Amino acid sequence: MERDFTLKIFDTKSRSKEALRPLTENVIRMYTCGPTIYNFAHIGNLRTYVFEDLLRRTIQYFGFGIFQVMNLTDIDDKTIHGAIKAKVSLKTFTQKYEEAFFQDLKTLRIQRAEKYTAATDHIPEMIEMIEKLIKKGSAYVSEGSVFFRIAAFPTYGALSQLNLKDLKVGASNRVQNDEYDKENLADFVLWKGYEEERDGDIYWNSPWGKGRPGWHIECSVMAIKHLGETLDLHVGGVDNIFPHHENEIAQSECYTGKTFARHWMHASHLIVDGRKMSKSLGNFYTLRDLLEKGYTGREVRFLLLSTHYRKELNFTFEGLESAKHSLQRIDDFLKRLDEESGETYPLLALNEVDRKFTEALGDDLNISEAFGVIFSFIRETNSLLDQGKISFGEKQAIKALFLQFDAVLDLFTAEELSIPAVVEELARKREKARENKEWARADELRKEIALLGFLVEDAPSGSLLKKK
Ligand code: AMP
Ligand code: ZN
Repeated sequence: MERDFTLKIFDTKSRSKEALRPLTENVIRMYTCGPTIYNFAHIGNLRTYVFEDLLRRTIQYFGFGIFQVMNLTDIDDKTIHGAIKAKVSLKTFTQKYEEAFFQDLKTLRIQRAEKYTAATDHIPEMIEMIEKLIKKGSAYVSEGSVFFRIAAFPTYGALSQLNLKDLKVGASNRVQNDEYDKENLADFVLWKGYEEERDGDIYWNSPWGKGRPGWHIECSVMAIKHLGETLDLHVGGVDNIFPHHENEIAQSECYTGKTFARHWMHASHLIVDGRKMSKSLGNFYTLRDLLEKGYTGREVRFLLLSTHYRKELNFTFEGLESAKHSLQRIDDFLKRLDEESGETYPLLALNEVDRKFTEALGDDLNISEAFGVIFSFIRETNSLLDQGKISFGEKQAIKALFLQFDAVLDLFTAEELSIPAVVEELARKREKARENKEWARADELRKEIALLGFLVEDAPSGSLLKKK
């Protein structure tokens, strides 16, 4: 539906709210930095993906098309280290976490991006980009590795508001690691020369010898290949601003000579006890942890969605309980709308509610205000319903309005059947076994699924899970 409101977003680069409009064809071309698939995503990572889901749904709500690309980082220090430690190929190692990631997206009702891309499928394009950067003098080879010369890009630091003049940067100053802080600003790696101890038998051939790409070049290549030289919008978590996105801008703009992304947006972190939730700090929960405690994907989605994306979200179980209660209030309200009795109430101002909700979203995705509109409407309407006001026709109109809001929120329909992640995983394995005609294995898996209280029914279109 065309909407007559402007969608404004807070742009990290200008540090101000700007109208978001596509450059061409009424479609927003958006690149989102995806997961490093060496472990299960924690709910901090998932907060960023839920925010990106709200963003893409809001873009569509405002009448634009969306083309979202998300990368799956399958080449970096962590995935390679994991594969070597597990003594399996890189693909075998990352596949498990890739599958888990897509499962998490489904549980949290996150719309799928138009395209998912993996670094391992883009090595020739990465080599091509690095070669061109060397030719242009923006990069140089050193002992089998290639580094980006940040002094060759005068606006380096603009996104993270660094002043290059105040910092000592020289060719002797370079980093091999993909992640480092602003105090260690240096020429960064585009291609990492092979090191046996670090890389095992995982490497690719290049004009500079055996090795592998750095993390930053992966995103530049995949973004440009699938979205063109200038994107409308580039998104990630705040930890991506420096050095990852800063480096993406430098490489891409030196390569194309054009603006890399017209807009940048970043989600604040989910924290626990005042610290960022992260795998390295060991203070993390995965979605599976919360499902095992009996919470549903919808409840976790509500929790992750309901704090504005530029505010830190302090994760607590009380917060999750309160998300559960808020959803219960919505469910109870929607149930009341099915009651057929009631007198007409001519003062019901649904257009006003619609306008306020849309304006809130259009103001940099002000979700707290959008929920504020919904909950005060529920409160007022509940009191009218108590008085026997509001006819069945009006109730249906309210329902239709909530359905419209749900195109953005995806919270109002209860889980038809909550299937624990472990059961889904067993069902997927069974599906694979059947594809490979391993009937005995498929049968074993059916029994395991039955022990967890579920039946599998095989239909021509695929298998269905039902509660026993
Ligand atoms: P990674 O798998 O570490 O590459 O991170 C994937 C995405 O999650 C990136 O966009 C990060 O910025 C984001 N992220 C990482 N930690 C957190 C956190 N604690 N809260 C919110 N987002 C996070
Ligand atoms: Zn990235």
